[in-house]
Amino acid sequence: MSFLKSIFTKKEAPANHTRTTLNDLFKTMRESVIVVGEDTRIFASNQAAYDDFGRRNGALENKRLTEVIRDLSLHEAFRKALEEEKTSDVELEIVGTDKKYDVRIAPFQFDEKKGAIGIFYDISQIERLENVRQEFLSNISHELRTPLTSILAFVETLEDGAIDDEENNLRFLSVIRRNAERMHHLINDILELSSIESGKITIEPKKSNLSNLTDEVFTNLSAKAAEKQISLVNEISKETSVFADAARLEQMLTNLIDNAVKFNREGGSVKVSHAQSGGNDVISVADTGEGISNEHLQRIFERFYRTDRARSRDIGGTGLGLAIVKHLARLHGGEISVTSTLGKGSVFSIELPKNTA
Ligand code: ADP
Repeated sequence: MSFLKSIFTKKEAPANHTRTTLNDLFKTMRESVIVVGEDTRIFASNQAAYDDFGRRNGALENKRLTEVIRDLSLHEAFRKALEEEKTSDVELEIVGTDKKYDVRIAPFQFDEKKGAIGIFYDISQIERLENVRQEFLSNISHELRTPLTSILAFVETLEDGAIDDEENNLRFLSVIRRNAERMHHLINDILELSSIESGKITIEPKKSNLSNLTDEVFTNLSAKAAEKQISLVNEISKETSVFADAARLEQMLTNLIDNAVKFNREGGSVKVSHAQSGGNDVISVADTGEGISNEHLQRIFERFYRTDRARSRDIGGTGLGLAIVKHLARLHGGEISVTSTLGKGSVFSIELPKNTA
C-alpha cells in the first residue's frame, strides 16, 4: 500500500521533497493508482486502490494483478505498457457490483526498471446518471407518443369524412381535446419537475395555516370527489400551522389528495390530519382506496412509476405527481413516506421540520 516506501527505498531515490510531494499526491487522489513491475506483480498502490480492490483481497503489494482484478482487457493493457511501452485506455466493470472504471494504463519507469501504472477513474456514478437520463427521455417519448398517436388518428378520421358525421364529429373532437390536454399536463409536470431538480425553484417557508390550506385544496377538488361520492374530511384543528411555502404546500396536498380521490372507491373518504413527531410536523392524507402492494410501495415516488400504467393514463395521470411531492418535501428539509394496506387504503405523510429560527 505504501507506494513510496517501495519506490523510494531504492538506491537512486529522488530527492526527499519530490518523494513527499508524490506521496501526498497519490494519497490525496480519489482515483485508484496501481503500479506493477515487469513480473506483473503489484509493486505499489495508493489508499483509494486498497479501498476499491484491497478490501476483499487484503494488501495489494506483491500480489499478481490477475489475483486482484480479473479482467482480460485490463491485463492486456498492462502487458502492452510493459512490453511495448504503449499507453491505452480500457473500461473496466467489476463483476457482481455496479462499479465501472475508465482506466488509463501507461508505461512507468523507476530506478531504470520497467513498470506500468494504472489510474482508475470511477465512472459508476456518471454511468448511473446517464442511464437515468436515457430512461427519462425514453419515458417522455413513450408518454407523449400515446396521446399524439390518438390525436393524429382522430384528425385523419375527421379528414376522411367523419367531419360531416353529425352524430360523431363532436365526440371525435373531444377525444382530440382530451389527449391534447394530457400532453399539456404532462409537459407542465415535466417542466415543473426539471425546474425543481435543477434547483431553479426556491421556496419561502413561512408560518402557514394548515387547516385553511387543506380547505382550499378540498374546494378545488370537490367536484372530482363528488363524482365518486367521496367525502373529504379535514381533521386539522383550526389554529394548526406549519412552517412551509404555502403555494408549494398547497401543490403537495393537491397531488396527494387528487391521488387519494382518483385511487379511491365509490363512496370512500379522504382524511387529512396533522400530528407531531420527533419535533417535526406530520401531515397525513389517508384514503379508503385499493391500497398499494409492497412491491410497488418502494418505487411509487420514482418518476413515471405507476402500478397500473394504462389505468393511470385513463384517469389523467402523468406518473410524475409523487416525484414532484417528494422533491418539494425535500426542498423544505422534509420527507414523504407512505404506508398501505391492500384493500383498505393508503396513508401518505409529509414530514416537515418546524421553524427553528
Ligand atoms: P399519477 O399521475 O399516475 O397519479 P403519481 O406520481 O401521483 O402519478 O402516482 C404514481 C402511482 O402511484 C399512481 O399511478 C398509482 O399507481 C400509485 N398511487 C399514488 N397514490 C395512490 C393512492 N392514494 N392509492 C393507490 N395508489 C396510488
